[in-house]
Amino acid sequence: MRRRRGFVVVVAVGVVAGFATPASAEPAGVGKQPVAEGYGGAVVSDTVQSSQAGIDVLRRGGTAADAAVAVAATLGVTDPYVAGPGGGGYFVYYDARTKRVSTIDGRETTPAADKSDMFVDPATGQAYDFETAVESGRSVGVPGMLATWQRALQRWGRFSLADDLRPAVRVADRGFVVNQEFADQTESVKDKLSHFSPTAELFLPGGEAPKVGSVFRNPDLADTYRQISRQGTKAFYGGSIGRDVVNTVQNPPLASDAPIKSLSGPMELSDLRAYRALDGSPTHVGYRGYDVYGMAPSSSGGITVGESLNILGNFDLSKMDRVQALHHYLEASRLAFADRNRYVGDSRFVKVPQRQLLSRQFAATRACRIDPEKAGQSPVAPGDPYSTGGGCATTTAASSGNNEQHTNHFVVSDRHGNVVSYTNTIEQLAGSGITVPGRGFLLNNELTDFNFTPTQGDAPDPNLPEGGKRPRSSMSPTIVLKDGKPALAVGSPGGATIITTVLQVLVNRLDLGMSLPDAIAAPRASQRNAKTSDAEAAFLAQPTTAGLEALGQSFTEGPSIGVAAGLEFKPGGKILAAGEPVRRGGTSAMVLSSRH
Ligand code: GLU
Repeated sequence: MRRRRGFVVVVAVGVVAGFATPASAEPAGVGKQPVAEGYGGAVVSDTVQSSQAGIDVLRRGGTAADAAVAVAATLGVTDPYVAGPGGGGYFVYYDARTKRVSTIDGRETTPAADKSDMFVDPATGQAYDFETAVESGRSVGVPGMLATWQRALQRWGRFSLADDLRPAVRVADRGFVVNQEFADQTESVKDKLSHFSPTAELFLPGGEAPKVGSVFRNPDLADTYRQISRQGTKAFYGGSIGRDVVNTVQNPPLASDAPIKSLSGPMELSDLRAYRALDGSPTHVGYRGYDVYGMAPSSSGGITVGESLNILGNFDLSKMDRVQALHHYLEASRLAFADRNRYVGDSRFVKVPQRQLLSRQFAATRACRIDPEKAGQSPVAPGDPYSTGGGCATTTAASSGNNEQHTNHFVVSDRHGNVVSYTNTIEQLAGSGITVPGRGFLLNNELTDFNFTPTQGDAPDPNLPEGGKRPRSSMSPTIVLKDGKPALAVGSPGGATIITTVLQVLVNRLDLGMSLPDAIAAPRASQRNAKTSDAEAAFLAQPTTAGLEALGQSFTEGPSIGVAAGLEFKPGGKILAAGEPVRRGGTSAMVLSSRH
């Protein structure tokens, strides 16, 4: 049994022996600002503590990769419902020495024993209800987070993993002061958290969500990080932490009064031993004189953002009125999503026509389907990237998509000019809801990103489950170069809306003349080959809405879309670090130095 866990109310100064005094806890919102400008390196991430962890590592001479590991590990403490060792993600890196952009695919992987019908109920022959699948060991993919951190440090780090975990250990031990965002997030997933006893014990002590101003500590996670610091990632990928993960997946620790059943998963220690974070090449398209690099499959992010940009490259948005520019933005993503859904999955398992989907010729065949006077009728059919003829040929198939609100994205740069754009997640807010007992972190539910049953009519579905396969992601960590040098780094959480958020930020910045902070703060809409586009209330309040509706665009008002974080590299070494002023409680932008 561990000593100091969970929350303590700050007003009770001195509190219980064994608890750190509130004064030593890391403050939550103090110093949180969405924009910073300066020199020598920068971080934009969800929480003050994680950004500060990155800045501290940069100050000690760490590279952007070192700082990124410190940020990600600290987010596991301060943003535990969207980050941490139980998840996975995609790491995009600009190496100032080689002047190349490279990627690491740290996506969760399906246990070898799983089959294509893993989400089909044998009793009914129908797919399990989505929530049943989420809160289960069945949805837990082999986590890729620690392997990604290790690989990033092997390739580009200066410090050891133990060094870069130190700030996170400190925050987990001392705790941090709970802010409104953390309290709200906990409240919003309270039911799920209460279904699993180690999760309720950690996040709902006394059965309640934490109060704003209380201190949250996670000594179990501090111990987990310490063990990894001593033993290396093998403690997870085959050692005692891994054994605990496997036991938990096979026997989800349901609370005795939980009103749900939780399907077990077949994960074995051999699945953890076999896990690899995969080195890869980014996707690449040219856009308005910039080079845009993104994440290749298993994420659909780079291809779908890239195809959309290629389609938009056929038009001059900067010369259009705002209604037409937005109409083209929505139509390009409508078309690109049809192609994504039909053709993109884990390219180690399905043939993904990446080169064709990202060719300008294919984009031209899609661009000619945009009618400036009329919105497309979704689901629009995918194009045929294998066709050599031009024209507007299409195949037939249906749409799919989701609009989740989770995950985190952060960006880092260092004094050498290296840049990281890293999106990572445990999928839904609080993932599967299952905490590994005594280890202080939640397990992902990433395997629910597979299509449970075929979605593409008579055509093959590239995103059906299979043992060893990685579910298709929408994560779109992006780095943009101009004349071979970093110009921008951006990304966002938000399920399939990640793609449209990244696209919209790029269009805002590169076509519509907005500054990076304005491009990020601007109201968003997301079209993903559905009959209506999701839109924020602020988007619909704009004067452009009537014009867009007159063109046949229709919108469904919904919650805020995405939580973008970006860097812009300006002349003379100046860095503009920009995050969200409002969405999900705002993000924390910091620079190493305000002076040159
Ligand atoms: N699992 C999602 C993906 O990989 C990210 C989770 C989210 O942002 O909702 O695309």
